[in-house]
Amino acid sequence: MMTLTGVKSKRKRTGMTAKRQAAIEERLAQIPDLYKSIYWRAVEGKSMRASVNAQCLECVGWVRAEVHLCTDLGCPLYSKRPYQRIKHKSDEA
Ligand code: SF4
Repeated sequence: MMTLTGVKSKRKRTGMTAKRQAAIEERLAQIPDLYKSIYWRAVEGKSMRASVNAQCLECVGWVRAEVHLCTDLGCPLYSKRPYQRIKHKSDEA
């Protein structure tokens, strides 16, 4: 889990501005623990996959199944969104 102390130490290593650090800390406080590391990889700018995943998850309130069920066919991220092949209990029968 990414803590605020962790953000500050990462800030020093990545050279991000204090303003950006504050914005990231504000977001992190709203993100479920399960997805904090995806968000952090995204904001570090080191993983395009993490950026797409974080954007989609944030778009639907951090609910993985909602990304799978996304109906915005015109969204630029639609074809690259994560969890397209998520398994449902009804699929297993
Ligand atoms: S593909 Fe769907 S979930 Fe992802 S950003 Fe676009 S609208 Fe949101």
